[in-house]
Amino acid sequence: MEERRVVAGVFGRLARVVALVAAAGIALSGCSAGTADVENAAPAASAEAPPAPASVEWKLVTTWPKNLPALGTAPERLAQSLDAMSGGRFQVRVYAAGELVPAFEVFDAVAEGSAEMGHGAAYYWRGKAPVAAVFATAPFGMSAQEMNGWLHYGGGLELWRELYAPFGVMPFAAGNTGVQMAGWFNKEINSLADLNGLKMRIPGFGGEVLQRAGGVAVAMPGSEIFTALQTGVIDATEWVGPYNDLALGLQDIAQFYYYPGWHEPGPTLEALVNRDAFDALPADLQAMLETACRAINQDMLDEFTARNARALKALVEEHGVAVRRLPDDVLARFQELSEAVVREAATDDLSRRILDSYYGFLAEARQYHAISEQAYLNAR
Ligand code: CA
Repeated sequence: MEERRVVAGVFGRLARVVALVAAAGIALSGCSAGTADVENAAPAASAEAPPAPASVEWKLVTTWPKNLPALGTAPERLAQSLDAMSGGRFQVRVYAAGELVPAFEVFDAVAEGSAEMGHGAAYYWRGKAPVAAVFATAPFGMSAQEMNGWLHYGGGLELWRELYAPFGVMPFAAGNTGVQMAGWFNKEINSLADLNGLKMRIPGFGGEVLQRAGGVAVAMPGSEIFTALQTGVIDATEWVGPYNDLALGLQDIAQFYYYPGWHEPGPTLEALVNRDAFDALPADLQAMLETACRAINQDMLDEFTARNARALKALVEEHGVAVRRLPDDVLARFQELSEAVVREAATDDLSRRILDSYYGFLAEARQYHAISEQAYLNAR
């Protein structure tokens, strides 16, 4: 409860700042207009009450199990901040996976308008467009910091919106987990040969890379992972990182916890918005939605940064989990395959432009990160 109050407090303060800035803008523009038009001032308008500002009630469907920390609570926080910023005019009701639609039908629900909004990850929609997954993550691709730079200052968001436009869906970045863990295994992975026939839950391009390296990739939403691993339907799974994995209870059914998350080095979560519903919003609620998504995008990364380390300690010290690094030959093989697998998604002009933009930005960002982020972490 304490945590909820803190979060509500942060968003409450954010909402008050937005309201103050908006009020200041109105006051200033009113002031200058008044000065310019003072000689032509018309008689005061009649004392009719202004029309009540528009208010909306939206449904938000998610791909996440109910109350899953960070991934599942982010859309709840988004709804709270929209409520606070709008003075109650923008109401969003959040549904966990399966409450209104199953996890993997979130995109269609938003496209059809049966829900105005969704929250998930773009690699769940490879069936719509194979290239969509890069807007979540790419194996050996961008970190969280690089994704945020590309999306908001490198042209990525515009390309993402162009990709989803034919479906009537408008995406916003709305969360990031940071570098994930490679996953949970019931047997040790000592070399590339240990991947042969290994059935692993792993989505997106990472799954395709695993296939080429000899494994079998299985796609399933978070709610099904525990049972699938426990009953041997799969031999291994990746999920997120210590904080989320602890919440899912994966330490109870697998012993080895591998790193690094080569397949998801900084995955972006997305808010999906029905385009017609967005266009029908008054301009101030559109601006609040944009701002709230931007805030939750950063907030989730902050939460993972704060909680993953403590959760890892608990996994090791209280649950006896064995933490292991993937062997060099496994990582080298994954890296060798990764960009080629992703580039296969370039099937038309738009997907080629998306991938050229993604890898162009990554190459540039890495040149600087080599002497900043990476050099700093290596120097300590
Ligand atoms: Ca994952």
